[in-house]
Amino acid sequence: MFDNSLKAYEAAKKVIPGGVDSPVRAFKGVLGTPPFIDRGEGAYLFDIDDNKYLDFVQSWGPLIFGHCDKDIEDAVIKTAKKGLSFGAPTLLETQLAQEIVEMYDYLDKVRFVSSGTEAVMSAIRLARGVTKKDDILKFEGCYHGHSDSLLVQAGSGLATFGTPSSPGVPADLIKHTLICEYNNIQSLKKCFEESSDIACIIIEPIAGNMGFIPASEEFLQECRDLCDKNNALLIFDEVMTGFRVSMTGASGLTSVNADIITFGKVIGAGMPVGAFAGSSFIMDHLSPDGTVYQAGTLSGNPVAMAAGLVSLQKLKSMPSIHAELNKKALRLVEGLKKAADANNIPFVVNTRGSMFGFFFCEKEPKNFKDVASCDFDAFAKFHNEMLKKGFYFACSQYEAGFISSVMDNKMIDECIDAAKIIMKDLKNA
Ligand SMILES: *Cc1c(COP(=O)(O)O)cnc(C)c1O
Repeated sequence: MFDNSLKAYEAAKKVIPGGVDSPVRAFKGVLGTPPFIDRGEGAYLFDIDDNKYLDFVQSWGPLIFGHCDKDIEDAVIKTAKKGLSFGAPTLLETQLAQEIVEMYDYLDKVRFVSSGTEAVMSAIRLARGVTKKDDILKFEGCYHGHSDSLLVQAGSGLATFGTPSSPGVPADLIKHTLICEYNNIQSLKKCFEESSDIACIIIEPIAGNMGFIPASEEFLQECRDLCDKNNALLIFDEVMTGFRVSMTGASGLTSVNADIITFGKVIGAGMPVGAFAGSSFIMDHLSPDGTVYQAGTLSGNPVAMAAGLVSLQKLKSMPSIHAELNKKALRLVEGLKKAADANNIPFVVNTRGSMFGFFFCEKEPKNFKDVASCDFDAFAKFHNEMLKKGFYFACSQYEAGFISSVMDNKMIDECIDAAKIIMKDLKNA
């Protein structure tokens, strides 16, 4: 029943490295082969063998209104007919920037780019430019795109300076990236003791790239305090959580304010958009007003801006949408947990707004090392069997899940019913 996809995968592998344009799509984590997608419709995906899946991946986050939302589609088509790109200012960019800064007391200006990677890379250059310092601090397990300085893994033992996590990243460059443990205040303090040259902390305030793990309020507050004491900037990477976990993302769920927030995913509603925002003082360091260089031929692309604008306006017009999506997320994870519990399978769950996560684990993971001790075998089996039954979850325990507004309770209950059968089989395996 995956015949066409299997053939397509073989053909793709001949001309595209690994057959995919982003590695996670290759299903390596679950030892599967990826269905090739033909189309989306509302809450569902259809592959080229005409299998239908309830989609909990949502293009890895952007599609909070599901596939082919009529309003977004109309705006995209209407804008595309006026020309795809001008490399000159358009009204849409100002409108989208206005929508964003209106939501936050402490953000004045936004710069648009074309991906989350670019947003974070530029935010870090800006932080370095503003503070005139070189080191950056990130947390093990947080993902901030694939730019050089951020492809770092923890060194051995207690080393706070990381090592490159990919060939091609110069160790010379990585010596400016300190790495500490998420939700671990001691580890954070140690980094500030070791370097007096820290330009910024970059953090996913709710991590979605080592599975779903929120940072504690106490931990975020410590990040803020250490930045203030050491003249460093705090960057919240909300590429995944922005407009997803609440209207103002993870920032809206904590009393801690960041200096720079990066956006992506939902902000483009499926079109390639990223953005970073901060106070006028910080953002005015960017060229052309300031000296920190940053640019992009397709930045602020009108079609992408139109999609983002409609999407944010729609969200704003539905003040209870995140609460409603969270109810559905809770219904799903509580149902999955019950199914696991009934078979004595260790399983923990969590949600914020329209995001959810689950781990095959005894105890809720607080950091990357905790996740590594979860049962990846059980996850892979669960994933493969759910896929066969028509439920499309992210193909790695290191990823989060997403609810879209077009998912209803009946769809979620169907998913839980399928999980009940699979959990029973998992126990007997
Ligand atoms: C997806 C993601 C990125 C990278 O965004 P791309 O658009 O894939 O470049 C950066 N940070 C976080 C938190 C993400 O989830």
